[in-house]
Amino acid sequence: MASVTLQNLTKSYAGGALKAVNDVTLDIEEGEFLVLVGPSGCGKSTALRMIAGLEEITDGAVWIGDDFVNDVHPKDRDIAMVFQSYALYPHMSVYDNIAFPLQIARMPKAEVDTRVQEAARILELEAYLKRRPGQLSGGQRQRVAMGRAIVRKPSVFLMDEPLSNLDAKLRVQMRAEIASLQHRLGVTTIYVTHDQVEAMTMGHRVALLKDGVLQQVDTPSNMYNKP
Ligand code: ADP
Ligand code: ADP
Repeated sequence: MASVTLQNLTKSYAGGALKAVNDVTLDIEEGEFLVLVGPSGCGKSTALRMIAGLEEITDGAVWIGDDFVNDVHPKDRDIAMVFQSYALYPHMSVYDNIAFPLQIARMPKAEVDTRVQEAARILELEAYLKRRPGQLSGGQRQRVAMGRAIVRKPSVFLMDEPLSNLDAKLRVQMRAEIASLQHRLGVTTIYVTHDQVEAMTMGHRVALLKDGVLQQVDTPSNMYNKP
């Protein structure tokens, strides 16, 4: 676990004409589940991608724990990210998809196996380890993507609209699964969504972004149930 601090975080496009993320300052506590919400185009993905190191920072800073990570390569940040598209490898088994980041890191085979089995148990994927992603349901694919993220035991978990490709029924189920997983692992989580219901129900706090500017940060009940 680690805290995440955004300090005057800014991303400009079009030579400065557009500020996709505009001077955002925010502290996310160790173990917190923060939902970053706002309409399409408000800068959520850009903010998340800067935290992940996938997008260059125009101005300001990202800290993970006590580490200033602006210039740290994504691979060397203690984070894992889950995308909307899952980004699974279609020709690899579920096992190999989950194991992939550990194999890249040259972890010994026995430890890889222990970690993959543990992730599969937590995510109820034990029966599907030999299948290819194409032989799974949407919910199972999303769980494989989460498995690939949690095997690394990251300090920070980033999720970008992970449920938006799922049908309504599955979305309701996966909301609860993700919240429960976060609770069990205690991993600091930043969850990006445009869905107010997800913001209302999933996290400890909600950060509302509009036109790149942070509007409000509060608990879901304070954010949505004010008279
Ligand atoms: P969200 O995730 O909230 O939908 P984004 O972070 O994707 O929003 O986009 C924020 C703003 O930045 C939008 O106006 C978008 O058009 C713009 N934007 C995103 N990526 C680029 C890019 N590579 N070049 C120019 N503008 C971009
Ligand atoms: P979930 O609610 O867990 O996403 P579904 O109800 O969609 O599961 O699927 C039920 C079962 O059917 C699962 O065990 C899954 O493995 C299997 N299944 C779903 N889609 C496919 C597919 N395209 N090919 C093979 N098996 C599938």
